[in-house]
Amino acid sequence: MKIIQTKSFILLSVLLSATLIGCRLINKNVHQKIENDTDKIFDKLVKIRRDFHQYPEPAGNEKRTSKVIANYLTNLGLEVKTGIAGNGVVGILRGGKEGKNIAWRADMDALPNDLPDVVPFKSKNKGVQHGCGHDVHMAIGIGIAEVLSKNKESVNGTIYFIFQPEEETFIGANNMVNSNLFSEMNMDEIYALHVTALPVGQIMVKPNELFAYQKRIQIIFNSELSKEDAEMLFNQVRNETLRRKDGAKPWQIPKAFDSIVGLSNPNTVFKDYLFIEENFAIEKDNNQLVIKAYAYETSKSNVPNMLPEIEQIISKSEYKDKFISISFIQENPTVLNDIHLTKNANNILTNIYGNKSIKMSYGQIPYFNDDFYYFQQKAPGVYFLLGGSNPEKKINAMNHAPNFGVDEECIRVGVKSFSSLILERTNSGK
Ligand SMILES: [Zn+2]
Repeated sequence: MKIIQTKSFILLSVLLSATLIGCRLINKNVHQKIENDTDKIFDKLVKIRRDFHQYPEPAGNEKRTSKVIANYLTNLGLEVKTGIAGNGVVGILRGGKEGKNIAWRADMDALPNDLPDVVPFKSKNKGVQHGCGHDVHMAIGIGIAEVLSKNKESVNGTIYFIFQPEEETFIGANNMVNSNLFSEMNMDEIYALHVTALPVGQIMVKPNELFAYQKRIQIIFNSELSKEDAEMLFNQVRNETLRRKDGAKPWQIPKAFDSIVGLSNPNTVFKDYLFIEENFAIEKDNNQLVIKAYAYETSKSNVPNMLPEIEQIISKSEYKDKFISISFIQENPTVLNDIHLTKNANNILTNIYGNKSIKMSYGQIPYFNDDFYYFQQKAPGVYFLLGGSNPEKKINAMNHAPNFGVDEECIRVGVKSFSSLILERTNSGK
């Protein structure tokens, strides 16, 4: 997940419930085997996650990471393609019979940071660290590849394990979908996850937008406007454009994972909002004064109104004669989960692992985004959140924050849950 700114069951009941919601599981025994196979490789996956953690590589430079993944997938007997869109790796698992083409994506890059790290296996690459949890994503990705390789006889269809470089810079996914390999893959569905500050092992998902739309606004005035007046005017703009539930502060991101006001509450404070960040920038030279700020809006249909509304506030101010222009200077697309597949995944995971295994999100997180969107433009897909926080162990999986940590038990949950999901989806018929 890219951050926008650096500053910033009994068999009968299972079958019955499966039938009721129109989703038949292939065979409960296969999922029990998936759980057992996951447990067998868990310690190995933890080791490999720690290896990735010690040797992090920033966006565009994932060379060692790429080799480690390619070797692992080759040893599993998968067909492996390397050098996809730079350091990307794709492992191909072909099942015994015809079925769907399902892809699983894990991102590979680390952050160009040197923030405090809570673990003893710290980064050996100065200035680079896995502070967003992509090391955990890769361990889960190769774990799913290994578990499904061991259950190949149950796979009808083809599974593509996509290891994507350059996520943090929002470059890798777009480059991968434009690669030759990608057009040959003919994906039916694609899935991915991101570790977050939810309780360890908690899976969360939401149809449509998982994150708020993020726009970087630029307003230009002539140089007659002073920095002090610009600051006062822009704070007025921020106050007048602010839209939120009473008293809600959707910019307080840790609250998104709170069990009361957070995303899992249908009345979460993280829905229906617009806010402009407090840390805006003012630059002035002899010719002009420029204000730049990120804004977060939950509704796509409200986005076109943002600039006219701001311009109107300026036009009513005493500084209107100094105004030159307003525009968006950065407009990344956002993760957009397929409604049908999201519901389907929720049903499958609930049927196999119980109704506490997955929760629906009712809100949208600001600040974060993921270029997984580009894959979702090529095939319907679902992007899940996976909890990595554990207060009892004093582990807080708040991505990009100092002392970001992950309870590695989430690797076990990620591997078993999504091995089961992928298997069900490949076998769901063409
Ligand atoms: Zn990330």
